[in-house]
Amino acid sequence: RAVEDAVLEVEDLEKRFGGIVAVDGASFAVERGSITGLIGPNGAGKSTTFNCIAGVHRPDSGRVAFDGEEITGDEPHQVANRGLVRTFQIARELPEMTVLENMMLAPKGQRGESLWRSVLPYFRDEVLDQERELRERAWETLEFFEIDHLAEEYAKNLSGGQRKLLELARALQTDPEMLMLDEPMAGVNPTLEKKLLEHIHQLREQGYSFLIVEHDMDVIMNNCERVIVMHQGAVLDRGSPAEIKANEQVIEAYLGG
Ligand code: ADP
Ligand code: MG
Repeated sequence: RAVEDAVLEVEDLEKRFGGIVAVDGASFAVERGSITGLIGPNGAGKSTTFNCIAGVHRPDSGRVAFDGEEITGDEPHQVANRGLVRTFQIARELPEMTVLENMMLAPKGQRGESLWRSVLPYFRDEVLDQERELRERAWETLEFFEIDHLAEEYAKNLSGGQRKLLELARALQTDPEMLMLDEPMAGVNPTLEKKLLEHIHQLREQGYSFLIVEHDMDVIMNNCERVIVMHQGAVLDRGSPAEIKANEQVIEAYLGG
């Protein structure tokens, strides 16, 4: 079954690092409002693909479109401003700041603007309104993830799983349309993992789209309606979990490395 309403389209993506071809002509689409899994053995090019989409790397060739508009080669903040955000495999919270302070940091790259604006009396009310709105949103999100009791805790004191929740909560502060999650379950205990997955499903019900890189095959197969399999920089297969599981090439790619 083809993707009918694509929120993200990747076409013939290529990225080389010196002599290494990390992504070698990958093409795929993500259905709007879906939870789509991106899997493949180590070194298949998943993270590089994420980085090319999110603007961390500029692809050598190929095309990326979000919401029908080309974003190839855009800077990370431009991609985020359009409503496409990613989380990192290693959470990137600021350890010496509280959870709430982390939530208040730089949404949509507007910090510089509000800084100079705050100097002008005319804009001050507007800035305060923005701050208030942001703070309310932060509290709502922390409540949603049930970590509001940790709002005043330093981020460095959180457990690995709580950090993953904060990472996701921070991504949501920018009011995105789509989230790309790089191994969101890594280092998360089973109880928190279950909770995290429930949250992802709830968010999907609200209309968010997800592209998730995850090593845990059960997580992918039980939670994604579509799966994309990468191997050696290209897309080896795509389809429902059942279709993917039935493909012997996929099994071989994993076993053969
Ligand atoms: P995956 O996330 O699927 O494990 P990666 O995208 O991280 O795969 O890596 C794909 C290939 O590109 C690997 O051979 C990796 O060593 C190489 N690679 C990734 N990033 C870089 C980089 N910044 N410099 C050089 N080689 C890289
Ligand atoms: Mg990776």
